[in-house]
Amino acid sequence: MFKPLTGALRAFTTTGAAVAADLASAATYAVETVGDAVTGRRSGGAVLRVRVLILSDESGRPLCSPDDVLGSVRAAQRIFDAGAGTRVRLTEVTTITEPAPTPALDPRANRGLLLDDITGRLDFFRDHLEPSLIASPVTVVVVRDISGRATGCSLGMTADWVVCQAALFDAARPDTYDETVLAHELGHALNLPHHRDRANLMFPESSPPDRRRGTGLAAWQSMVLRTNRHTVHLPSGVA
Ligand SMILES: [Zn+2]
Repeated sequence: MFKPLTGALRAFTTTGAAVAADLASAATYAVETVGDAVTGRRSGGAVLRVRVLILSDESGRPLCSPDDVLGSVRAAQRIFDAGAGTRVRLTEVTTITEPAPTPALDPRANRGLLLDDITGRLDFFRDHLEPSLIASPVTVVVVRDISGRATGCSLGMTADWVVCQAALFDAARPDTYDETVLAHELGHALNLPHHRDRANLMFPESSPPDRRRGTGLAAWQSMVLRTNRHTVHLPSGVA
């Protein structure tokens, strides 16, 4: 349970300079472009903070650009705002330019992801997470490939991070581009299980371009999204 904290401290002391330099430009970019793109500058209410980490492959080439993920972030903003009255605030999009090891680039899904995590195969990006606390943001890690049919994966409420495959964000590939997956994985991180209605955001399968899942949320799902350890409730007047 203390791994994120030690990891964050380790990252700060060993690779802090490079990461901080990269983070500074990326963060400014994100906040200016989509910080309030959908929900406007209204104050108060439920807020979920989300950060994105983009890994780079073995040769140091980023798996996607910050621009690429914005469509899915905006979709999550629309879905959570309309369905749960929750503002999704993107706090940073950081590209980790240090080449990631293959196990971190290509994690397994579900139980495999849990095993990958326990056995240290994901330590590379675990080192870039924020401390796991109440009201901590959810980090979306952009990986290269998730083994099997999954294109995104979450360990649920126990983890502060989810993984999404880079091809989800490639608008030039309609066979893989899918803006519902990031929001779906955020839903898992906020404690939502799967739902059997294809029109629901938490339907397990989504097959672009013709059979993407829907974006609906039931009233009880809305309540879960608003009452969990990641969503903070700001008093009116606080943006
Ligand atoms: Zn799922």
